[in-house]
Amino acid sequence: MEPKYLIRTFGCQMNEHDSERIGGLLMADGMTPTDVADDARVIVLNTCAIRENADNKLYGNLGHLKPLKERRPDLRIVVAGCLAQKDQGAIQRRAPWVDVVIGTHALPHLLDLLRRADLEGPQMDVREYTETFPSALPSARRDPFRAWVSIAVGCDNACTFCIVPLVRGVQRSRSIGEVLAEVQGLAARGVVEVTLLGQNVNTFGRDLTLPGSSRRPLFARLLREVDGVEGIRRVRFTSPHPHDFTPDVIEAMAGCGSVCEHIHFPLQSGSDAVLRAMQRSYRRERYLDWLERIRRAIPGIAISTDIIVGFPGETEADFRDTLDTVERAGFDSAFTFQYSPRPGTRAAAMSGQVPKQVVQERFDRLVALQEAISLAHNREQVDRTFEVLVEGDGKRHGSIQARTRTNRIVHLGEPVEPGTFVQARITDAAAHHLSGRVVPETIALGV
Ligand code: SAM
Ligand code: SF4
Repeated sequence: MEPKYLIRTFGCQMNEHDSERIGGLLMADGMTPTDVADDARVIVLNTCAIRENADNKLYGNLGHLKPLKERRPDLRIVVAGCLAQKDQGAIQRRAPWVDVVIGTHALPHLLDLLRRADLEGPQMDVREYTETFPSALPSARRDPFRAWVSIAVGCDNACTFCIVPLVRGVQRSRSIGEVLAEVQGLAARGVVEVTLLGQNVNTFGRDLTLPGSSRRPLFARLLREVDGVEGIRRVRFTSPHPHDFTPDVIEAMAGCGSVCEHIHFPLQSGSDAVLRAMQRSYRRERYLDWLERIRRAIPGIAISTDIIVGFPGETEADFRDTLDTVERAGFDSAFTFQYSPRPGTRAAAMSGQVPKQVVQERFDRLVALQEAISLAHNREQVDRTFEVLVEGDGKRHGSIQARTRTNRIVHLGEPVEPGTFVQARITDAAAHHLSGRVVPETIALGV
């Protein structure tokens, strides 16, 4: 019987993408996936460092794995991802039963490190620079019909709360040709939806344009090229930085039939003073202007966002500015976070850290407001009919999950093959999902 591997992924889509590559490498080495830790010869924890609870999760998980490793010394435990890059040697000092620590730039060396761990004991590779894009590695994709495509790694911004530039490095873009070749290959294998990934997708290509030239990003051009790939019916991307969301990108989105009517547009705070302290280059009126421009150019577009509550120095008045901005922006959905000081970031050393109970109380108020807004938006969808892509079993018992172009989840009552496009009539709405019925004649057509 082939040896088995298990991967646990924490954090963002970039980590999910990297986990698919880790799975691809292990499969190329003759292993098969399992969900059962007891059956696995290799267990990979692909970690996230963005907030403190991510650290706690890693060490909690490692604690649970210790008795398993004691019982089965041939088990190989791998810690990958952003925490591996951040904590480096500290991981094996704290959990000496970890066999391999592999940073964000070293994924292509995983099999080598595992072999060396068999022969020589614990290994670590936390090099500082990406030589081979993870996208160039084999992949064990979660779905046959949709795929992540990494277009750039790293970030050149310096938001004072954020650890990403420290653990993922400066931005490095792939060439347009390389991205296109990957998308074409995916389409040839039946993929109908791609999500372009980068920390700051709309500065894609800036590092490729010649030094001394205008250093212009190439994201709008990339969108048009990907839109031209036969067979790809939906193109998504995440995340753009509002500051770099230039008119050429809006124009390309409006003009490209496969680019979905959804953008994730991280606000972070509605207070100008806090935005300044975060080193976010826009201010709230400018942000709201951009939103209006986007909505005018792409009618019906859904907007999601990220908001941090309790950044150092945030006053009640600052927080009210955030509530006010959220109301005026009318986001379709929001990821809301309590500020978490990250070692090495400028904000972690700022005075005015907000007490936990104040953060919690503000967070609850923000969540309640956003839920009401999301519900109101979702109710507007009832009795309308949308093209949805069926994704598979829903979380609710017996339901099938599908998604609109605007990234709304729709629970369907009828079984439909994952990967199929159907028309769904919306029958009910909640804050985080819709319910709907398949328009029967569209099943056979795959429309
Ligand atoms: N590149 C994206 C952008 O510019 O908005 C963000 C990437 S980050 C992985 C996702 C989100 O995590 C951020 O938008 C921010 O809201 C949140 N985040 C990052 N650092 C945080 C921190 N120290 N505490 C709380 N939330 C944080
Ligand atoms: Fe972090 Fe995004 Fe700011 Fe880059 S742009 S530093 S990834 S929040």
